[in-house]
Amino acid sequence: MQVIDSMPERWAIAGARAILPDRILDDAFIEVNSGRIQRVGTIPKRIPKTLYIIDGTGKWLSPGFVDIHVHGGAGADFMDGTPEAIATAAVAHLHHGTTSIFPTTTTGTAKAIHAMLDAVRVAIQECTNSLPHIAGVHLYGPYFAVAKSGCHSKAGCRTPELSEYQSYFKTGLIKVATCAAELEGCLSFYRYAKRRGCLVTCGHSNSSWNEMRAAHQAGMSHVDHFWCAMSNVASVRGRFGTPMQGSMLEFVLAHNTMSTEVIADGCHLSPELLQFAWQMKGPGRLCLVTDSNRAMDMPPGKYLFGHPEEQVWVESDGQVGRAADGGLASAIQGMDHCVRFMARNTEVPLHDIIRMASLTPATLTGIDREVGSVETGKRANLLLLNRKLHIDRVFLTPS
Ligand SMILES: [Zn+2]
Ligand SMILES: [Zn+2]
Repeated sequence: MQVIDSMPERWAIAGARAILPDRILDDAFIEVNSGRIQRVGTIPKRIPKTLYIIDGTGKWLSPGFVDIHVHGGAGADFMDGTPEAIATAAVAHLHHGTTSIFPTTTTGTAKAIHAMLDAVRVAIQECTNSLPHIAGVHLYGPYFAVAKSGCHSKAGCRTPELSEYQSYFKTGLIKVATCAAELEGCLSFYRYAKRRGCLVTCGHSNSSWNEMRAAHQAGMSHVDHFWCAMSNVASVRGRFGTPMQGSMLEFVLAHNTMSTEVIADGCHLSPELLQFAWQMKGPGRLCLVTDSNRAMDMPPGKYLFGHPEEQVWVESDGQVGRAADGGLASAIQGMDHCVRFMARNTEVPLHDIIRMASLTPATLTGIDREVGSVETGKRANLLLLNRKLHIDRVFLTPS
């Protein structure tokens, strides 16, 4: 695997099978000029001699991946709050094909979240060519329901207070914003985040259909890691008794204005659930996310999750993260693994799998004019994959 971030002015990849949003283009000829895709077509009869050609024969050509829910990798958690940690984790994911990344917060203190935002700002400013595009921050924790906090520290969960979240949004970095829909003040939070152009999401929540409906009207339109740390009919019954009520699950499936995401690492969800989610939501409303923590690309063992002062430990068995009670505690695989797992274990067409790992998250976060697909005018963030979908080369156009 090789990351290539400096190329001649004009170059092309010839002969690969290009994965477009809606189909596969065989014998593709993808021409790049000044870091932008200039032409998407098949190999022309005459190739200009001045063009630097990369032979893509026998390879897949994919857009770089976009990850909207990711905590860390290679030993670093974004919540470590240093520019070095941000760069270490981001670069680890670049090696797994992610060219646009949204570092994700956990239920840390306000001080820890500010340190993370500061570190992201510095990492972007001092962006070397080898960093993936840090497209914004996912403000994920701390506004979780305690009952659905999962591996996040319960002590760190809190209700959204304007003065607190205002200070995060002032940085201009928050592009994805999560809050549980049963928390006091959630509707003001949703409206605030929506006005600032965020993808507004509900996660780590035990909310009912009615709470989801109010949230949706306030701008919430996405649910974090479907089936994980979210409500179902039985869990909502625990709050409201009978008659049984709809939950986040039914609300997402019933509304085509709602999108969601799946952790497709093969440990969180079985193949039939992954395929079911695609069948129900379609490739335009379902994202693949890694939800990976710092144990990605590290040996099995115990790792801190989130900021060290939280003292939340997860155990990596080499496949997935586990909490002390054996429950799932985020993932440790890169996006390329998720793509391969979907391709080998479901009947979802490859172009839909890649779309859910690139164009769909790019569209939901508003960066699809720049990245997310092999289309004319977009940045040439491209991947060459071998026949078995392992990454051969990553082409990165610095922002
Ligand atoms: Zn989570
Ligand atoms: Zn997560």
